Amino acid sequence: MKQISLLGSTGSIGTQTLDVIRTNPDFFRLVALSAGSNITLVLEQIREFKPALVSVMNEADAEIVRKEVGDYTTVLFGEEGLMEVACHPLSDVLVNAVIGSVGLKPTLAAIKAGRDIAIANKETLVTAGHIVTTEANKHGVSLIPVDSEHSAIFQALNGENPKTIDRLIITASGGSFRDRKRENLEGVTVKEALNHPNWSMGAKITIDSATMMNKGLEVIEAHWLFNVPYEQIDVLMHRESIIHSMIEFVDRSVMAQLGTADMRIPIQYALTYPDRLAREAGERLNLWEMEKLHFGKLDMDRYRCMRFAYEAGRSAGTMTTVLNAANEVAVAAFLKNKITFLQIEDLIEESLNRHILISKPNLEEILDADQQTRLFVESKL
Ligand code: NDP
Ligand code: MG
Repeated sequence: MKQISLLGSTGSIGTQTLDVIRTNPDFFRLVALSAGSNITLVLEQIREFKPALVSVMNEADAEIVRKEVGDYTTVLFGEEGLMEVACHPLSDVLVNAVIGSVGLKPTLAAIKAGRDIAIANKETLVTAGHIVTTEANKHGVSLIPVDSEHSAIFQALNGENPKTIDRLIITASGGSFRDRKRENLEGVTVKEALNHPNWSMGAKITIDSATMMNKGLEVIEAHWLFNVPYEQIDVLMHRESIIHSMIEFVDRSVMAQLGTADMRIPIQYALTYPDRLAREAGERLNLWEMEKLHFGKLDMDRYRCMRFAYEAGRSAGTMTTVLNAANEVAVAAFLKNKITFLQIEDLIEESLNRHILISKPNLEEILDADQQTRLFVESKL
């Protein structure tokens, strides 16, 4: 029986994690969860799973939740609540499925408390990958990927010597605007951008897929998780999202992981590794029904965010912190119709250009770069 803490229980990954727990009650038990402001859903989840500890974003909501379920669940709120959920004394593993760099501090707290981490929250690795991975090594904690591409690489690597990796090949579906030329992106709507062809995900990551920033963040995430230099990480366009990613080894043998577009597969694997658990639900991959899989080269001029991500990754230090923070604020502004789709890219570029790099930042300097960038982008809205 694995005891689980879950950050971001009301989100896309969070609800799918609960589905995995729900369908395997003999293997998993939820001991603590955190949500943001979806109180209706979190109350349902608390009543179903009866976790010992819950945290929500603000105090007023915590009071509402406490009144409803306080007799059997401790209810906290805010940053302190996230930290307590992340380090719950009964938990063996933390599933970090919050969105954004708000996940950084709870991740570091869980690492210090010796919890293994199933990590979906890629922004944490982008904003402070060097600190997170150094701390994880220091405390002997595993960071197990949940993101489908990184789970694919993790599975393809299983049992191999990481030093024999020649190249990581991360696949990209292309997002909602993959069939549009750059000049046809002027004036696209939020609704159009949210219409992802293959995956049903939270709003922010769906926009990130449309700008291709999601793939940029994933390149940086892969760099930190697998300790591979940027020169050896390629992105391959692959419309069908069937091959989730590949490793080319030094002997030119290529290992790929395939599957349907169902995040419950990598979520479950992150929780059962190194074992596997049978899944009754979910479609099988029927390749004969597809006949063809498509592959293409990624155009860095069409997808400028991809170029920004590689450049920020190579600059390292606080540059990826700035990339992430600018993107978070710009995407939130686009979702509120405050800026156009293409202005997301412009705001990120401006933020990167004005930033003075700190090469080996400590946590305080990371948090400061994050904050300064947010203020700058907000001042431009
Ligand atoms: P969602 O937006 O669907 O969910 C985010 C979760 O975080 C919700 O529970 C939300 O609470 C909570 N939350 C948001 N802001 C805060 C905050 N400031 N403090 C505390 N909690 C907060 O996101 P996704 O599930 O789509 O994505 C989660 C992470 O997983 C991201 O890093 C994403 O890149 C990654 N990922 C997602 C995939 C997917 O298929 N969705 C695939 C691969 C990676 P509430 O809703 O209650 O306000
Ligand atoms: Mg992914």
